[in-house]
Amino acid sequence: MASNMTNPANHLPYFFGNITREEAEEYLMQGAASDGLYLLRQSRNYLGGFALSLAHGRKVHHYTIERELSGSYAIAGGKSHASPAELINYHSEEADGLICLLRKPFNRPPGVQPKTGPFEDLKENLIREYVKQTWNLQGHALEQAIISQKPQLEKLIATTAHEKMPWFHGRISREESEHRILIGSRSNGKFLIRERDNNGSYALCLLNDGKVLHYRIDRDKTGKLSIPDGKRFDTLWQLVEHYSYKPDGLLRVLTIPCPQLGSENDNVVFNSRLPLPGTPSKSWAGGGIISRLKSYTFPKAGSKKLQGTIGHSPDEAPFNPYVLQRKRGLTGAEKGDQREALPMDTEVYESPYADPDEIKPKNVTLDRKLLTLEEGELGSGNFGTVKKGFYRMKKGAKPVAVKILKNESNDPAIKDELLREANVMQQLDNPYIVRMIGICEAEAWMLVMEMAELGPLNKFLQKNRHVTERNITELVHQVSMGMKYLEENNFVHRDLAARNVLLVTQHYAKISDFGLSKALSADENYYKAQSHGKWPVKWYAPECMNFYKFSSKSDVWSFGVLMWEAFSYGQKPYKGMKGGEVAQMIERGERMERPEVCPTEVYDLMKLCWTYNVEDRPGFVAVELRLRNYYYDISH
Ligand code: AMP
Repeated sequence: MASNMTNPANHLPYFFGNITREEAEEYLMQGAASDGLYLLRQSRNYLGGFALSLAHGRKVHHYTIERELSGSYAIAGGKSHASPAELINYHSEEADGLICLLRKPFNRPPGVQPKTGPFEDLKENLIREYVKQTWNLQGHALEQAIISQKPQLEKLIATTAHEKMPWFHGRISREESEHRILIGSRSNGKFLIRERDNNGSYALCLLNDGKVLHYRIDRDKTGKLSIPDGKRFDTLWQLVEHYSYKPDGLLRVLTIPCPQLGSENDNVVFNSRLPLPGTPSKSWAGGGIISRLKSYTFPKAGSKKLQGTIGHSPDEAPFNPYVLQRKRGLTGAEKGDQREALPMDTEVYESPYADPDEIKPKNVTLDRKLLTLEEGELGSGNFGTVKKGFYRMKKGAKPVAVKILKNESNDPAIKDELLREANVMQQLDNPYIVRMIGICEAEAWMLVMEMAELGPLNKFLQKNRHVTERNITELVHQVSMGMKYLEENNFVHRDLAARNVLLVTQHYAKISDFGLSKALSADENYYKAQSHGKWPVKWYAPECMNFYKFSSKSDVWSFGVLMWEAFSYGQKPYKGMKGGEVAQMIERGERMERPEVCPTEVYDLMKLCWTYNVEDRPGFVAVELRLRNYYYDISH
């Protein structure tokens, strides 16, 4: 299954996976519910969390184990532990709030595997296939797309995924649905869903004691789906998931999807229930549904990719899969929907040289004749200016940003700095880092880079106060992904700040400005500066100021300041203070306050990034994971 989905409890014999509270109780009763008998299961409410079911006094008590943002686990209000297993060991010796000690694990019966949520596996596969086929990605690019865009991708496939489900039979008549259900197995709970009309209403057809019941599924004004007086859902998928756990008004729960005609998967077990001993059944994952996924074809994206603009109209983006669906005549709330450009829709998600037809020039030197420069400046610095231009490649002209050295400056130090920056950039290839296309020596020295049209994050947020907290979280999470990549590859940035994060779209950020960056050799984990330079001291960790030592951990400190800037909509950090005053404030143990609209989870992470001791400060692996979890949480 997906590599990022490895469950930290899968190896525990007493871990049952995604079973319900009732199923846990049933199991513990089988074990006579002796005092202290316990099992572990996946939490159904908390992302990545668990639940502990513990028997005492012939009753079963349930405790939620939350996964904390730091990646550790705790029973609400209790001590934190590195893993669910450690938490279990601890509570075998200390009740510490539990009704009794954990005395004896109830292990899974032979042949029973931890239960994966009926949709988790399927969803992971659908997303993967969807991204592969829609954007033609593989390897790292594919993984990074899934990690950074999971909530958007889930939403995107959720609106169409039911079409891929064995239980979805499309537009068939009531009579036909009865006919189909009554062929073959007549197990209670066998079901299908059919489309009733073009207004987004459906019917759930359910077999009960040889009779087929029909429940209407209506779509309300806001696009939500429900059985009359029932719970409301965004997607048919979730509705089916819910009613396969609970009858909740239906005569019984949904068990077996009625197979489509011509399908051999008649007896795939749909029900979430674990096969209790004595119940012969095939597991969901072993059934035919997952393997059938491979033959799915998603609407292909056209080869044309869009340049990142905000709020493009669907007509400008004919390859947009959502638009393709709309053209096929989707219904209800989906009609008004129009999705934002994802990073993968833009031209700068992958390196232009990822295309096998485009060959990287020798020594990264570009031919001046292939480069055209436009009037006007994107920005400037003491080195010279940054201009917009186009670089002609085999597959067409690519918009680029060109850093042009001042000609009159014969200062060799400035040229060396540009070449050093080019040398670093040449070694980096990540969707969340501005890539270098090459360098060009002509009327001036020029560094040709990918274009990030919307410019620096701080300025963008100053001008766009409507940008939501979720949007900012998405962007800073992307920055943390880029920084994690730098950390893995032993580069220190040394100038990480909101001004050096450039936006391709409102939902796509890239780290830029590698002028101060250093590649570390294998035997060092920090860079030692010879002397104090022109430094962005408000972004620097104490060890940079005191010992001139720079590492990925000091980049983490800067990342904390960057998050502060982002959630302050581009305000200057430590406003009105001088560099020396900031250093004193940090030494006194004081830190900047929480920005007004900053969620406490993010502020807690900022403060963690501002841990004084390098050894105690988290690295980007931990920071990225915390942001990722928080981002997924608020996106649901
Ligand atoms: P720098 O000195 O590298 O920070 O560049 C100065 C300014 O030029 C930045 O603040 C941006 O406004 C602009 N700029 C630099 N690189 C790019 C790029 N790749 N895409 C768009 N604008 C850029």
